[in-house]
Amino acid sequence: MSFINRLLNPRPAAIGVEIGTSAIKVVALRAGSPPSLQHAVMIPTPIGSMRDGLVVEPQAVATELRNLLNEHRITTKYAVTAVPNQSAVTRNIMVPKMERKDLQEAIKWEAERYIPYPIDEVSLDFDVLDDPNTIPENGQMEVVIAAAPTEAVARQVEVLRLAGLEPTIVDLKSFAALRALRGNLLGEHLTKSTLTGTNYTEAGEVALVMEIGASSSVINLVRGDRVLMTRNINVSADDFTTALQKAFDLDFTAAEDVKLGYATATTPTEDEEDLLNFDASREQYSPARVFEVVRPVLGDLITEIRRSLEFYRVQSGDVVIDRTFLAGGGAKLRGLSAAISDALGFRVEVASPWLTVQTDQAGVDTGYLQTNAPEFTVPLGLALRGVTGRG
Ligand code: ATP
Ligand code: MG
Repeated sequence: MSFINRLLNPRPAAIGVEIGTSAIKVVALRAGSPPSLQHAVMIPTPIGSMRDGLVVEPQAVATELRNLLNEHRITTKYAVTAVPNQSAVTRNIMVPKMERKDLQEAIKWEAERYIPYPIDEVSLDFDVLDDPNTIPENGQMEVVIAAAPTEAVARQVEVLRLAGLEPTIVDLKSFAALRALRGNLLGEHLTKSTLTGTNYTEAGEVALVMEIGASSSVINLVRGDRVLMTRNINVSADDFTTALQKAFDLDFTAAEDVKLGYATATTPTEDEEDLLNFDASREQYSPARVFEVVRPVLGDLITEIRRSLEFYRVQSGDVVIDRTFLAGGGAKLRGLSAAISDALGFRVEVASPWLTVQTDQAGVDTGYLQTNAPEFTVPLGLALRGVTGRG
């Protein structure tokens, strides 16, 4: 999948750059089998520079990105980036079996029915999911189409160019996340050193992957490397912050601090109460009070997950979820895996993106990588595309 794909041959190695609402993140890999991690770095996105996932202050964001690259002496010029989830649309559709060259035109016609933007103003891409050789003549084949307003793609390209980078591919965050989680999803444990103690889906199992970013969340249903469904969901990590902001009459930054310090997604245990209460703000932000504020947002999140699964069942039939993996900074909300697991009855865990790369290099702080694994899932997936070219 790529909206812009300069077919440079051989394609130069590219870094992965995610411009998120909360943070600008860069992952640099050295090509190899497996690729090895050189840098995983981030910097807060300037406040007010993004709206609905789109950069509205390109120069301010580009300056921060440039500073981040300079600070870490990242000199690679080429970059793979992604459009905001809010701008992206993907659909799995069935089309009659046909040659790839005929698909281009057919997809455009089909896309017109599914994509909520004027077709002349979108960048469109597709990928054939079925092996045409296995499909009988006159049969149907499944294709995933991806679209984003050309304006959103252009905005992303502009920011990177202002920062002195040359974008080679503009991807979707959801596809990047799945690429980064191949270790969890396909058992591709590329790194021997991380083999121990990690679970992954068995062949044929269906996994639900949910990436919860600051301003956007995406839910994917996958079987092996086949994407069954991708949908944006309307609850994201900022919603927890906004709820706290309103309840305690705080500004956004103060509410964010309360969330990081005190919020839990499950009823706080007495131990947690004791631990967190050991603090000057205990009266105001007792875990129990904070939980009461967070709870309705959590309820909305769970409803959204249920809705997405229902949508899939209506379209494609029943499905049993074997595993659920959470990614994105929102996955770090204390107790979130357990809360989703309790509500839906699935096994839920925070995903492990670093399985797909070699991380035991000198100079990479493994504690930092583990703590921030959820946030780095998308930029890692973009960087993997940049060194392997794999869609
Ligand atoms: P988007 O892709 O939606 O534009 P982003 O990529 O900038 O956003 P992430 O970096 O994935 O977002 O996640 C940031 C979000 O994760 C913020 O809302 C932040 O508050 C939340 N977050 C990070 N750590 C924690 C934590 N320990 N507990 C709760 N929430 C957390
Ligand atoms: Mg993000």
